[in-house]
Amino acid sequence: MSHPFDLTGKVAAVTGANTGIGQAIALALASAGADIACVCRGESAEIVAQVAARGRRGAAIVADLSSSAPAERIVAETVERLGQLDILVNNAGTIRRGAAVELTEDDWDAVVDTNLRTAFFLSQAAARQMIAAGCGGRIINVASMLSFQGGIRVASYTASKSGLAGLTKALANEWAPLGITVNAIAPGYIATNNTAALRSDVERERGILDRIPAGRWGEPGDIGGAAVFLASDAAAYVQGHVLAVDGGWLAR
Ligand code: NAP
Repeated sequence: MSHPFDLTGKVAAVTGANTGIGQAIALALASAGADIACVCRGESAEIVAQVAARGRRGAAIVADLSSSAPAERIVAETVERLGQLDILVNNAGTIRRGAAVELTEDDWDAVVDTNLRTAFFLSQAAARQMIAAGCGGRIINVASMLSFQGGIRVASYTASKSGLAGLTKALANEWAPLGITVNAIAPGYIATNNTAALRSDVERERGILDRIPAGRWGEPGDIGGAAVFLASDAAAYVQGHVLAVDGGWLAR
């Protein structure tokens, strides 16, 4: 009998797989047995090599996700190169920090388009493929603590991540009967490029750390297990859930 977390024979597309949380998720899924389409806007040779080092196939797919234009191509290329698409991880995301009264339309569009609009149209393209293949599938969105809270000086980011949590539930409702689960992971405060500005502000860094019951910032690797769980048979009946992986932040 296969292990309930075994992903052998599955193919996952992970956006923003070149760094941070996306890289950790791609490697966790590969370690669990999945082949990985690494969807990155720039260089991805390193992550493809790391996937191969785990004995899995890795394919680099170049795409700028600031618009939804590449959505259908990403799915088509994944199927063409790796044979199928079972799991989509909408991880790529961006942030613009600043006072709401100063926020420009570009600050709004850059964040909401990448984090929410593209995540929707890529999910739509993936679901169409999963429905056509008739094998069901898994869609995992990377949400945030700001899917639950307001945050400070990150209005467009909070709007995008709160929207992503709602979208997760809406799509879960529609696609559950088709065998596609749609869930999200809400990372707490993780040490990546995304939080470099926070961590370099000594007062903010201390304030955040003081509120985390686990007593440390998260590492990208802390997120991988949740992704494997949501991608696996073990989570077949988990639908529309936003799973916080936050060292206890929300419990405070
Ligand atoms: P990160 O290291 O900055 O990673 C962001 C990833 O998204 C990078 O691969 C980046 O590519 C990619 N990306 C951004 N804009 C893109 C675009 N237009 N087209 C293609 N790829 C694009 O930060 P991270 O923390 O790992 O972030 C990953 C996800 O976790 C994001 O959705 C973020 O909002 C979310 N998150 C992070 C935290 C945290 O504490 N770090 C907490 C909650 C949620 P490049 O390398 O080319 O820029």
